[in-house]
Amino acid sequence: MSEKIIGIDLGTTNSEVALYQDGELKVFEDQSSKLFPSYVGIDDQGELVVGTQARNQYAAYPERSIKSIKRKMGSDEQVIMADKEYHPQEISAIILRRLKEIAEENLGQEISKAVITVPAYFSDRQRQATREAGEIAGLEVMKIINEPTAAALVYESGHKGEKQLLVYDLGGGTFDVSVVRMEEAVVEVISSHGNNHLGGDDFDAVILELLLEHLRDEYEIEEPDQRVISRLRHAAEKAKIELSSQPFTTIEEEYLLEKDGNPVHLRMELSRDRYEELITPFIDETIEAVHTALRDCGLVATAIDEVLLVGGSTRTPLVRSRLEQDLHQVAHGEIDPDLCVAGGAAIQGAILAGDSVEAVLVDITPYTFGTDTLGMEDGIPIPYFYVPIIKKNSPIPIKKSEVFYTIRPNQESVQVTVFQGEEPDARENIELGQFSVNGLSEGPANNEIIIGFSLDVNGILHAEATEKRTGLSKSITIDNAITRFEDDELDSARERIKDLFGDRTEQVGDAEEADDNADQGRKADKDNDLIDKAKNLLEAVTDDDDREDIVALLEEISDARKNGDKEQFQTAVEELTELIFYIEN
Ligand code: AMP
Repeated sequence: MSEKIIGIDLGTTNSEVALYQDGELKVFEDQSSKLFPSYVGIDDQGELVVGTQARNQYAAYPERSIKSIKRKMGSDEQVIMADKEYHPQEISAIILRRLKEIAEENLGQEISKAVITVPAYFSDRQRQATREAGEIAGLEVMKIINEPTAAALVYESGHKGEKQLLVYDLGGGTFDVSVVRMEEAVVEVISSHGNNHLGGDDFDAVILELLLEHLRDEYEIEEPDQRVISRLRHAAEKAKIELSSQPFTTIEEEYLLEKDGNPVHLRMELSRDRYEELITPFIDETIEAVHTALRDCGLVATAIDEVLLVGGSTRTPLVRSRLEQDLHQVAHGEIDPDLCVAGGAAIQGAILAGDSVEAVLVDITPYTFGTDTLGMEDGIPIPYFYVPIIKKNSPIPIKKSEVFYTIRPNQESVQVTVFQGEEPDARENIELGQFSVNGLSEGPANNEIIIGFSLDVNGILHAEATEKRTGLSKSITIDNAITRFEDDELDSARERIKDLFGDRTEQVGDAEEADDNADQGRKADKDNDLIDKAKNLLEAVTDDDDREDIVALLEEISDARKNGDKEQFQTAVEELTELIFYIEN
């Protein structure tokens, strides 16, 4: 057995360690988290602390804690931790050593080899410093690879042929966009652009600014102390993350501070709309960088085959929607954007170890789920306007909600229909269920109703509608929302159906006789269309019974053809017509 080679994403804020083994990608956990804070410190007792513990002490004891050492890699600058000087390589080595241990604890065996990732813009000096850090940590660094290359490897591990990918990486404190070309086994970064000081921390900072403004306006508190600011920054990040999946959030911090001997409890509501307005300038900057990267390698946006999302901040819906609008294609975020770089490094490790690598599988929903509303376009109302809530290819489990508004004053109820599909006219999608919320409170139109969907790994879809003002809510649960044939089951069903029907032009009874008869010919065409429709529907239906009924009727039609039994054929065709009508309506 070849020796295991781990993959390490040595990040500015967080690092991760992974291994690809037996067709499976594993990202190792430490204290129940796959994200390992890139912090090092010395605690009260003079002991070395790394990761979460070091991060937790950072705000209180910055003089004996180090963060963001990656920014100094390759420089001669030394950092001071508890009055002692360290080279950046030494601090990085402490992080790498702990990551090596995490892998060893999880695997129960010693590890001595690693692939480590670095940003595409890292100079030779910075790469060399990273290699040295690995060696100080007791690791043989088999290869240093670019972060966008790692992302491409994890998404395209099963891919053959030529492809051009755009990797958009927005983390906590850095932003990079790279164009990567894959040609058989060669993966190269052909251009790269970014901003070393742009990321999710800036999004936290705009919320923090709102909170400080709120304290000034409501309580006349001008300059809260560091401890308060640190609490608020934490609350801001939490609010930001909540706004990625819901339209509003309430930031609450009890006993935040004292004013004139009274405790101040902070409570502020923030809408996604307001938050998105505030972060728009940052996102504009990233989109400009995307175009610079494309220009630098002489490509137009349409030459990009896939757009890959990397970095925790790409979970921000506005980031994704702006990028998709701009590049006119769906961006891929199926593989956890925090973990895919480590995953790619692990795949590179497996390739170097001589293991065979297959496509990485993740739990995603193959369907989009949404509801309908009254849309508006140029002042003209559009009924049955479809609003997707959980989008196809989202990793599951997932929970998402959106806000909708009543259209009449004193509207007493709303009806919610749950659909599966992607057609803009909701009626063309598959209806999965319906429910109403009755007894809404009196008031003007535009009463806010929050509709939330959650989908678990077993395909159970839960839909809930809540009147925001009162909390009045109603919900339904739909089982088997994503139950479908497993891939191999689907393949064997397709084969079975193909075998049953043979050539598409084959018709019931005596073929020559049918040829002579124009009417019969048209009918046969219609029957064939019906059969094709049934076959297509087989892949779309969500209900097991419906699927079994379709297969049974198709088998009956095939038997009837073989036996020349026109009566049996006719009956089965009629039943299939009825069944399709029933399923579609
Ligand atoms: P990374 O450096 O890739 O680990 O990304 C970390 C950044 O992602 C931090 O700023 C996090 O606050 C941010 N982040 C993590 N989850 C989310 C989320 N669901 N929505 C928005 N930002 C997130």
